[in-house]
Amino acid sequence: MTDTLRTLIFDQSSCRAHLVQLTEAWQRVVGNNSYPSAVQKVLGELVAASAMLSASLKFEGSLIIQIQGDGPIRLLVAECNSRLGLRATVKLAENAVIEDNSTFKDLVNARGKGICAIILDPRNRLPGQAPYQGIVPLAGHTVADSLEAYMHSSEQLETHLVLNADSNTAAGLMLQQMPQHGGVVSTREFDADGWDRLKALVNTVQSDEHLATDTDELARRLFWEEDPSGLAERPVHFECTCSRDKVSRMLVSLGQTELNDALSENPTVEIQCDFCNANYSFTRDECDELFVDSSPTQPESGPPTLH
Ligand SMILES: [Zn+2]
Repeated sequence: MTDTLRTLIFDQSSCRAHLVQLTEAWQRVVGNNSYPSAVQKVLGELVAASAMLSASLKFEGSLIIQIQGDGPIRLLVAECNSRLGLRATVKLAENAVIEDNSTFKDLVNARGKGICAIILDPRNRLPGQAPYQGIVPLAGHTVADSLEAYMHSSEQLETHLVLNADSNTAAGLMLQQMPQHGGVVSTREFDADGWDRLKALVNTVQSDEHLATDTDELARRLFWEEDPSGLAERPVHFECTCSRDKVSRMLVSLGQTELNDALSENPTVEIQCDFCNANYSFTRDECDELFVDSSPTQPESGPPTLH
């Protein structure tokens, strides 16, 4: 079965693994746009990673990975909430030239100025409460390298990722040292031998096999000698959180002057969701109404470009 995420615990080694394979949810992401294949690959890898990182956190809300690029890709965003609803988008530079064999580094870190941010946006964020955000310069040649470097510097957790994607499937495998919560010292020391052994097993996966094999079968093939305990598999789905209400608030934050400028050129203001292509149209009367009801509002304080 695809569109599932499976978690395995390796108690002896104080490690856990997440495996994800996405087809339908991934199709909903790529189906919204016609990205070049090299872009599909990095976006799919990022989407698979976002689902696994979200599943690894004890956190109610959305995990957002944002990569700001300095090459043909200006921005990559993959977002996954704690119900494993995900969405993602890409912004390309104008006149971007993208070869089929362009690597992640070519696309986002060509001049070494790329940045990777991971944002945790709690579901019931209090007014004025800022989402947690960690930012690091991009390191590495692949999505997996870059996220591993991020996790190492900000979470101080050993993390190893294997990511693959094509236009049909996005797949991920994440091996992670178990976090030690609340300052309680684990009764078991981190088992470096166990870690190395599991990492070596994970590294045997070839891209074709990874994309074609469901998480249950892949877990069996890789770890049959390791005797992991498995948590129930969880479904992953595409979910866009855009709404007319959120777009309305965004328009209010732009201000009436700006909207009037737009309306002097067009009969309506049209806003298209970057994630699902939903279109929101506002006539002049509807725009005016936004400002009648609005007491001083706080602009949406979410990350830029998210509606
Ligand atoms: Zn949307």
